[in-house]
Amino acid sequence: MRCLVISDIHANLAAFEAVLADVAARKLQYDIVWCLGDLVGYGPDPNDVIALLQTLPHICLSGNHDWAVLGRIDLRTFNPDAAALARWTRDALTPQHLRYLQARPGSVEQGDFFLAHASPREPIWEYVIDAMVAEENFPRFTQRCCLVGHTHVPVAFIEDGGTHMVRSTMPPPGSPFTLREDARYIVNPGSVGQPRDGDPRAAYVLLDTGAMTWTPYRVAYDIARTQDKMRTNDFPVRLIARLDLGR
Ligand code: ZN
Repeated sequence: MRCLVISDIHANLAAFEAVLADVAARKLQYDIVWCLGDLVGYGPDPNDVIALLQTLPHICLSGNHDWAVLGRIDLRTFNPDAAALARWTRDALTPQHLRYLQARPGSVEQGDFFLAHASPREPIWEYVIDAMVAEENFPRFTQRCCLVGHTHVPVAFIEDGGTHMVRSTMPPPGSPFTLREDARYIVNPGSVGQPRDGDPRAAYVLLDTGAMTWTPYRVAYDIARTQDKMRTNDFPVRLIARLDLGR
């Protein structure tokens, strides 16, 4: 099966559309979209992003920003900008799209893969930011490979099958990274709508579960189009500026 793996769209329609256009332009085939959560929050297009995802065959998880919008997280634990956007998003969403978010699972098992927004140990909250945190999480799932989002940074953590040593690597865009049989993995596709690795381009991955290849891609999108809508809605300046920086 070929999966288009995306995460953290954060209500950025221009970025999401650019990903789908790039997939089509490269003639990449996929059977299903695996979306690892945080569909909304930060960006100006929550309804349009949900509506577009719903036109595709997909599995979509809940993220911490989706939970915040649903009132499942105390907004006092969010930074003020994120909390303001959670409130704005709650008011902006149609009842039908709120119900869609409510029905998203926290984690999902798919054959050799375990999918969670944040980490297998804490599917909504934990940031798998380094090999040490990854090492603590490998015993928390049984599959060969765990897919997570949440940090907005594309990365692969590799647990050696013999030594159980964990190391990290950032597979470069455009070339397939093979998920070997003698190792286990925690992999992150990065963010579609708010990348934080210093590269402002939208990130996505094509996963072939037969060949066990993970191929990352980046695509530039019309950042100004998203920023204009954010300004029109009086979004915090910091959130508008960070899209240019990819931070
Ligand atoms: Zn996020």
